[in-house]
Amino acid sequence: MKKPNTEYSENISNSRSIPNPSSTRSPNEKASQILEKYRRAGEIAKEAKKIAHSLAKPGTSILQLCERIESFIRKKGGKPAFPVNVSVDTVAAHYTAYPLDTATIPKSSIVKIDLGVHIDGYIVDTAISVWFSPKLDDLAKASRDALEQVIDHIKPGVKLSTLGGLAQKTIESYGFTPIKNLYGHQIKRYVLHAGLSIPSTNERSWVGVDRQLEAGRIYAIEPFATTGTQGIVSDGLDVNIFQFLSVPDRDGSLLQKAISFYRAVGPLPFSPRWLNSSSPRESEKIMKIIHSLTKRKILMKYPALVDIDGGIVSQFEHTVRVTRSGVEILT
Ligand code: MN
Ligand code: MN
Repeated sequence: MKKPNTEYSENISNSRSIPNPSSTRSPNEKASQILEKYRRAGEIAKEAKKIAHSLAKPGTSILQLCERIESFIRKKGGKPAFPVNVSVDTVAAHYTAYPLDTATIPKSSIVKIDLGVHIDGYIVDTAISVWFSPKLDDLAKASRDALEQVIDHIKPGVKLSTLGGLAQKTIESYGFTPIKNLYGHQIKRYVLHAGLSIPSTNERSWVGVDRQLEAGRIYAIEPFATTGTQGIVSDGLDVNIFQFLSVPDRDGSLLQKAISFYRAVGPLPFSPRWLNSSSPRESEKIMKIIHSLTKRKILMKYPALVDIDGGIVSQFEHTVRVTRSGVEILT
C-alpha cells in the first residue's frame, strides 16, 4: 500500500531527541479547557480567512498575503500552526512565500489559501479557494460542496469509505476528479497529521476505508477537486516549508544553529521567513543552513504539491470535532 501523502507528517512526537510536547493533553488540563482552546483557535482562523478573502486579488503579493495573515493570527493571541499556504492553479498545496518572494496572484487564477492556528498546541487547520474567473465557479463549488456533504454526514462511527464515497460522488457530479493522494486527517496536540487519514475517494484498495470517526476527536476534512483526469499530485520544485524531525544534541556550530532555529520555530512546520531572513544576504545564509540540516535529516522538507496532469485544483477545508450525536465545525 502506498503511504498516504498527507499534508504534514505525524512523526514529530515520536522523534527520539526532540523536546517532546505531549501529543495528548498537558497535565491537569480538563477536557473543557482543551475545547476552549480549540474554539478560540477556530475563532481566530475564521477571522483570518475573512482577511485572506478580502486581501487576495490578482496582483496581490503572495509574500505580503502570507505575512499579513500570519501576523494577524499572532496579534489575536494564536500562533500559525504552519506557514500560510497560497497555492495557485495547478499547485494543490504547500506553496508558501519565499523570504523575498516577488510572486503575485495571477489574473483569472484560483488560489487555495490554507491556514492553521494553534493555541498551546491545540490546532485548527482550514482552507478556502478564492478565484478570479467565472469559468472557475464550478471547480470551486465542487470541493466546497464535497466538504459540506461530508460534514453533513459526520457522526461517531461513520466509516471513512462513506465519507470518501460522498466526496468523490459530489466532485464527479460537477465533472471533476477528486485528488486521491491528499487526505484529511486527525489532529492531536502539536501533531497536525495524527492517526487517521480521511480520503476523498472510495478506493477499496485502501485499507483505511473501513475505519471510523470517533466521538471527542478532532479531524480536518479537506477534499480537493481537479480538472486533471488522474487526481494525483506529486512534489514540485518549490520548497519553502520545513519541519524538525529531531534536534541534535552534539556540539558544533551547525548544530548550535539548529538548536537556535528550533527554539524560534518549535515542532510544527515552519517557513524560513520566520527566521529573520529580511535581507538577501541573511536569507541566503539561513537557506544554506536549512539545506545542510535537511541533508542530515534533522529537518524534513515539504515541497509544493502539483497536479501531475497540469490540472487546475480547488480545495476547501474545515476542522471539526465529532460530538456524541454529530459534529461541531470549529473553523
Ligand atoms: Mn490545511
Ligand atoms: Mn489539513
